[in-house]
Amino acid sequence: MDHFQLRNGELYAEDVPLARIADEVGTPVYVYSRATFERHARVFVEALSGLPKKPHIAFAVKANPNLAVLSLLSREGLGADVVSGGEMARALAAGMPATDIVFSGVGKTHRELADALDAGIGQFNIESGEEGRELAEIAAARGVVADCALRVNPDVDAGTHDKISTGKADNKFGVPIGHAPQLFAKLSQLPGLNLRGLAVHIGSQLSELTPLETAFTKLGDMLATLREAGHAITHMDLGGGLGVPYRAGEQLPSPFEYGEMVKRVTAGWDVTLMFEPGRVIAGNAGVLLTRVIRVKRGLKHPFVIVDAAMNDLARPALYGAYHDFAAVAPSGERMLANIVGPICETGDTFATDRETDALVAGDLAIFRTAGAYGATMASSYNSRGFVAEVMVDGSQFATVADRIPPGDIADAERVPDFLKA
Ligand SMILES: *Cc1c(COP(=O)(O)O)cnc(C)c1O
Repeated sequence: MDHFQLRNGELYAEDVPLARIADEVGTPVYVYSRATFERHARVFVEALSGLPKKPHIAFAVKANPNLAVLSLLSREGLGADVVSGGEMARALAAGMPATDIVFSGVGKTHRELADALDAGIGQFNIESGEEGRELAEIAAARGVVADCALRVNPDVDAGTHDKISTGKADNKFGVPIGHAPQLFAKLSQLPGLNLRGLAVHIGSQLSELTPLETAFTKLGDMLATLREAGHAITHMDLGGGLGVPYRAGEQLPSPFEYGEMVKRVTAGWDVTLMFEPGRVIAGNAGVLLTRVIRVKRGLKHPFVIVDAAMNDLARPALYGAYHDFAAVAPSGERMLANIVGPICETGDTFATDRETDALVAGDLAIFRTAGAYGATMASSYNSRGFVAEVMVDGSQFATVADRIPPGDIADAERVPDFLKA
């Protein structure tokens, strides 16, 4: 459930007409609903209540790193899962306690490891023996001990798009689960590390629980193996990955069903469980509001050319992803159309042969489910600016990211003297 609904024939974000936001902030613009974010966070927390130990829930910052979003989620008691120094800085700037931050990612640099240690973050999810040894050295040199988990690759097919699968044996993430016992034995002897658990994350937009259950079961077997070998395991990080409905009426496992599965599979583990949800919190809490530039006649169907493009919302071009598209003030008429942006790439196509609300030049429309992996993936391709972001709260709204005009981006560029001679 979200708070982007029709009222008297016009789309609202909570109590604000989307047309008002378009007038005041311009388009394209991402619009987030505070109430929807809070609802999703609470549903997820609620779904995991009743675990023997209070879980640690770390929002995957890469899904939506906007400072207002992170601040809102921090107030809901969520921590952050970060994959770069930039994301860590954002989580801290949004007021998240350093100890609530988990650092994931296969390519953490020396600088990032050192900065994260200095910031006192809660846990490093290390993805290789090489990284573990480097972190141990940095920590030992500082006279501190880094709490960490070893990310394993369980070799499970998540059944999602190839580009967002992360838990198959040939993906770059984690260490092969079969290597965990030897690696654990070696790394846990290093003075700078407190290797306290395992981590797993098999992919994103999972539409079934079975691959997750398979991965968690393998993780549980490895937990037993490690304990038999004498290791003290206190934390297990189950990652993120729960999918969201991108199409109206689509049925996906709910956070509640996920929570029930987790409780069943992890019964008796006697650890603090950690989670890294991203999309399930943010996806349906945002829309991309756009204006139709013009409608161009096509051979088969017309092209609805909107002012948002693949640089603002990359998912359709990147993964062939589907986003629901709807008029802000639907007339009731329908049309079959191709929905495209202005960028000079055929890939700048949001939908082909789509039945949609009839639209003419100047009309407003939205792409739904754009709160996750939306603005954060924006680029300035075709010398377009960076899209603005707005958050709605009841009957008020605020710009939470200014539009960055193309000129500001060009300001960072220079023609060198040797070209001026
Ligand atoms: C991307 C990512 C997540 C979040 O995935 P969602 O599908 O958005 O829940 C969690 N953990 C790690 C390590 C990730 O890379």
